[in-house]
Amino acid sequence: MVSDREKLAASDFQRQREQLVERELRMLGIRDEAVLRAMRSVPREDFVAEEMREFTYRNAPLEIGLGQTISQPLIVAHMAEALEIGPEDRVLEIGAGSGYAAAVLAQIAKEVFTIERHRELSDLATERLSRLGYANVHVLWGDGTLGWPDEAPFDAIVVAAGSPRVPPALLEQLRIGGRLVIPVGQQEDAQQLMRVIRREENDYEYEELGAVRFVPLIGEAAWPAEEEGNPPPANSPPANSPPASSRTAVRTDRPRPSLPDLIREVAEPISSIESADLEPLLKRIGDARIVLIGEASHGTSEFYRIRAIITQSLIEQRSFDFVAVEADWPDAYRIHDFVTHRQRAEPHEWEAFSRFPTWMWRNEEVLDFIHWLREFNLSRPSREQRVGFYGLDLYSLFTSIHRVLEYLDDVDPQAAAIARTRYGCLTPWESDPAIYGQAALSGRYRSCEEEAVKMLRELSARQAEAAMRNGEDLFDAQLNARLVADAEQYYRIMYYGANESWNHRDTHMYETLESLLQRYGPDSKAVVWEHNSHLGNAAATQFGKYGQINIGQLCREAYGSQVYAIGQGTDHGTVAAASEWEGAMQFKKVRPSHPDSYERLMHLAEIEAFFLPLSSSSHPQLTSALAARRLERAIGVIYRPESERLSHYFDASLPGQFDEWIWFDETSAVHPLTTEQLAEHESSHPFATFDR
Ligand code: SAH
Repeated sequence: MVSDREKLAASDFQRQREQLVERELRMLGIRDEAVLRAMRSVPREDFVAEEMREFTYRNAPLEIGLGQTISQPLIVAHMAEALEIGPEDRVLEIGAGSGYAAAVLAQIAKEVFTIERHRELSDLATERLSRLGYANVHVLWGDGTLGWPDEAPFDAIVVAAGSPRVPPALLEQLRIGGRLVIPVGQQEDAQQLMRVIRREENDYEYEELGAVRFVPLIGEAAWPAEEEGNPPPANSPPANSPPASSRTAVRTDRPRPSLPDLIREVAEPISSIESADLEPLLKRIGDARIVLIGEASHGTSEFYRIRAIITQSLIEQRSFDFVAVEADWPDAYRIHDFVTHRQRAEPHEWEAFSRFPTWMWRNEEVLDFIHWLREFNLSRPSREQRVGFYGLDLYSLFTSIHRVLEYLDDVDPQAAAIARTRYGCLTPWESDPAIYGQAALSGRYRSCEEEAVKMLRELSARQAEAAMRNGEDLFDAQLNARLVADAEQYYRIMYYGANESWNHRDTHMYETLESLLQRYGPDSKAVVWEHNSHLGNAAATQFGKYGQINIGQLCREAYGSQVYAIGQGTDHGTVAAASEWEGAMQFKKVRPSHPDSYERLMHLAEIEAFFLPLSSSSHPQLTSALAARRLERAIGVIYRPESERLSHYFDASLPGQFDEWIWFDETSAVHPLTTEQLAEHESSHPFATFDR
């Protein structure tokens, strides 16, 4: 049986496929409607391995095993277009690979013959194509440089691998009037895409279509087989890329030896986290109102510990008012109650941070900080001076609904009854709000937007209780109502694309931070803990180029130099992370950093741990040298070392993102709390279960 989730995934792939065709292929110059139609209909996700599926519709080549790749969609479309295939044509392809291009060709042509020299790949392609019902594709295991004489002549021939010359057999097997498209070049990793048209029996017309990069064509009339097994040169861009004109140039900004030296000169070594000298850092922070402290993973002990130590100093020595973290509002509010010694009118039966990913907050590192903060707050003379702890994120739609209802039950039972009816629109989806978003969008279910927004207005207008308990309960309820309205929208726009939902989420986080700063007054100061990718100015990353913003950027735009942004990174070690969403936490090995990354530069500085000032460095030449874009690694709650380059590296300009960078060459996983540790705590503890 196909589950709702699978159906959702299939429709999501279809949407991504349409976007790829409309937003990329068409814009990059593919005009042939038959080709575009074919690209729109072949499920590319079925031709890639399970673990690479999420990247299916990136316009990029993907590995398919045995050192081979499925070509980039643009190049498949480009070649198909150049072949000028008609509906009655018989087409020969050399290099079946995954079988994807053959499936695309089969949508346009009458019959497709495809040859693959790797047995494993040809078997897999045969199985796939027949499972998907492509009855007009025939797969042969063999050396394609000799063509397929029994089926010749062909109206069109396409070679999906780079050859030193045009194999004579292919020229012979071309019908008069037929087209042959083939990457030709004397280097194994760079070719010209050629089109050959057979005008007469002995008259061939040659045409160059642009520079390309394919894996080598290996066979009798091309490269010799012993060349095989030679690993491609390190750091080479992936094979089967589009013509050079439309791809980023090969990186030439390799780490020059002087850069790690420069880093070593500027770095302030950290000999031990707990006794790190923070004075120089505090000086650089000066009187900033917002200090953003990022992390390169959600499961690295060192990141959490140094962040806690810096935050403690900011609270003790610079009177910071609250900590705001990448966690849901209601969960973090439990911690807030605990650290500010505030008893709720009624205890709640839910636990803080009990949903995936639990280790992100339920760990010894966070617990130590929470205990420290609770202790610190004892020394504060008045309740208003106690330092708060809040969550900025929006994944708690239903907990937040319950919190609003509980609040209204307390202060205004009549309003609570109305609220129940309004929020009732969302309750059927409690187990999976993502399905709500899809249902509402498809029109199969009505949208609950109006109800959620009405509730937000109703809560915002409430003034009467502002005087009760310092207005804290009212503020909490108002923020929950805001969260419900934003989350409701989040689940609907999730389907418009990654940018829209990301921007919506980060805007929500920024607005929540704003509300907190307002509540604490004009001179208030905040420390924010989130992933580097939220806090480092998005405008200085590849995501910014594609229209993504983040909370770090919004803070920078609104508060300018009153913001001090710190990022953190590591080379290798272990990390607590899952393999997929809702998956179990594992301790995973972090691979040594990529040769083209900032991390590699830091690693080459050969200092175990350090602070690296960027914006107020005494060596501006280091900052400008670091400004040239490089790769940067981001591990979230998921870590997939198998597809690390695609899953976890992005392009960025480090000094554009952060004012300062903290480095730990080797890192270790956070220490999640065990069930026994959780059970040991009394019921007043924020991570414990409450009974009514
Ligand atoms: N069209 C493929 C991608 C091709 S990658 C797709 O859509 O997935 C190039 C393929 O050519 C590789 O699978 C490689 O094994 C194969 N190949 C290389 N030399 C060959 C030859 N002489 N005959 C047949 N296949 C060859």
